[in-house]
Amino acid sequence: MPAPGWIEWTELAATLAVFIPVAILIRRRICSRRARERRLRTSFQAAETTVLDRDFPRWRDIPEELTARFSGITRVLIEEKNYEPCGGLEEVTEEMKLLIAAQAALTILGRRKQRFFPRLHSILVYPGAFRDPGRRSFGIDDEARGVLYGESWETGSVVLSWDNVIAGARNGDDGMNVVIHEFAHQLDQDNGAADGVPELETRDDYRRWSEVMERHYEELVTAAKDPAQEPFLDPYGATHPCEFFAVASEAFFEDSLDLEYEHPLLYEELSKFYGLDPAAWPFAS
Ligand SMILES: [Zn+2]
Repeated sequence: MPAPGWIEWTELAATLAVFIPVAILIRRRICSRRARERRLRTSFQAAETTVLDRDFPRWRDIPEELTARFSGITRVLIEEKNYEPCGGLEEVTEEMKLLIAAQAALTILGRRKQRFFPRLHSILVYPGAFRDPGRRSFGIDDEARGVLYGESWETGSVVLSWDNVIAGARNGDDGMNVVIHEFAHQLDQDNGAADGVPELETRDDYRRWSEVMERHYEELVTAAKDPAQEPFLDPYGATHPCEFFAVASEAFFEDSLDLEYEHPLLYEELSKFYGLDPAAWPFAS
């Protein structure tokens, strides 16, 4: 039979074995929360604004009251996501990270719920158009899939073609932007399936979203089949409701005034979701 002192030591060791990992976890959480707060307070450095002015001039349209938040979100996305070079690309440079993160930041700039793509861990960057590396099974082989400019996976990755990232950044008014497209998919996938219905706040929001998006999606499906029609939105949006949301998001940020004119209810719905009114920004196109 062990001495009383031995029992006390055993109990103390058992208590510490539980307490120490919990204390470490709490400390880590506090540190990471402080680090994020610091990132959110970080402004762009002069060298970064030079890069943005040169390669992503659209950022200058962001209203002044949102620019501090924009730079903070961009910093969070630069520092909290892994950027991996693929397909022969040697490195994802700091400039490349900045340009990817800044475009992605637009999509969460006005959202009321402050979330930074919590399911997204890695951003894989190819030098140009790529074929799917085959990590997902679609029942068809890679050769049949053709080349891709971007992909968004529910498993925590976005894949981007750098050629298309930079083209989309430099041309901010053609309604085509691969980063906005793929990060819209991430927002859609944040609540599970990629179904064109991202997380909304109220039951009414879901009802209205379904009505507006389904009607515009069906219109695009019909227009895409009719050679006599030239739909305003990219017909690629007619391939699936999740693609419709991603394509409409590109138009929302890059062709805002025209989208508002052509499809005012769709614009209004996206404006509510993104918490922004880019058609009212200076030089909106
Ligand atoms: Zn897509």
